Amino acid sequence: MSPVGRPLRPRGKLLQEDARRHHRSLLIQQLFREGPASRADLARTTGLTRVTVSDLVGELVGEGLVEELGAPAGARVGKPPTLVGLAPDSTHIVALDLSADDRMSGAVVNLLGQVQARHELEIGGARGADAVELVHRLASELIAMTDRPVLGVGVGSPGVVDAGGTVVDAPNLAWTDTPLAASLAEALGLPVFVANDANTAVLGEHTFGQTGDGGLMVLRVGIGVGAGLVLEGALLHGHLAAAGEIGHVTVDPDGEVCACGRRGCLETILAAPRLRRRLAEPGIDRDAVLTEVGERLGATLAPVVGTLNIHELVLSGPTELLDGPLREAADRVIRERTMPVSSAGLAVRTSTLGDDVVLVGAAVLVLSGQLGVS
Ligand SMILES: [Zn+2]
Repeated sequence: MSPVGRPLRPRGKLLQEDARRHHRSLLIQQLFREGPASRADLARTTGLTRVTVSDLVGELVGEGLVEELGAPAGARVGKPPTLVGLAPDSTHIVALDLSADDRMSGAVVNLLGQVQARHELEIGGARGADAVELVHRLASELIAMTDRPVLGVGVGSPGVVDAGGTVVDAPNLAWTDTPLAASLAEALGLPVFVANDANTAVLGEHTFGQTGDGGLMVLRVGIGVGAGLVLEGALLHGHLAAAGEIGHVTVDPDGEVCACGRRGCLETILAAPRLRRRLAEPGIDRDAVLTEVGERLGATLAPVVGTLNIHELVLSGPTELLDGPLREAADRVIRERTMPVSSAGLAVRTSTLGDDVVLVGAAVLVLSGQLGVS
């Protein structure tokens, strides 16, 4: 992911600067992941020299990003080590979730991924440039809601988004080759990071959702269906930035017409509005329908699980649809259709972050791009 708004560094001294930046990231990452530590602990866990650690911690304390926390509770008399920790509210992040069809949601988030304030704007049918204008307004109004410096702006957008934060194609907002990150960065004077909402969700789940490191797939079910994958600790982008577009895999060649113009995509049976409509038909057996959709989902995901040997499959979206017969049926069919070695260690569950997963993930875009942590 290439940052937008960060000036190119001058040539020369590049290696030394890169090393320093890398060492800073190591320290911040350690404090972010493991909490407060003494300088000696930081040297031991990062492998950096104590001189380097003291130097960089001094710099980070000077910037306000890290704070001295005194001696740990219960430390014995003598020379107790002083702990340092990330100052979670030293700087805030503005995070936007554009994945809903009726509103754009945003939040001010601190460095620990905790939401400090919320704001949203009705989309009211805005499309194209009007929708971009709405994003600008939402970001500006959120920036005004915090009295802390803003580290950057992260955006989870529907559609295919390239590495530079240009929305290549988002039919719901009528965006084609829309340079969202660049226009926001210019207007706000801040670093801006934009990614597809499913990719944003998987980053949120990976960083703040108590996951392991064994391969994670988040399937987002909303107006559409898409997936994000973190494999071997890195977000999977794919050849044309379209990894995870499983919503448009055909599951029924004679099925309903899809938003993409084709017929019988996974999205036509699983997208929340379509599934709700079907469940509202008179005389419907709710559990039977949810089981049938879950079985089709399982059949679609089994080859993915078999290929990638992922550890966790997280269903993210309306819990009343996803958590129950649908999840159980998908889980069962995946296991029926893959070798035990593929599915024995697999957990199929819903997201612990609920509706905030894209917002929190948008904050991770900024944490990762600006501080090197995730
Ligand atoms: Zn489709």
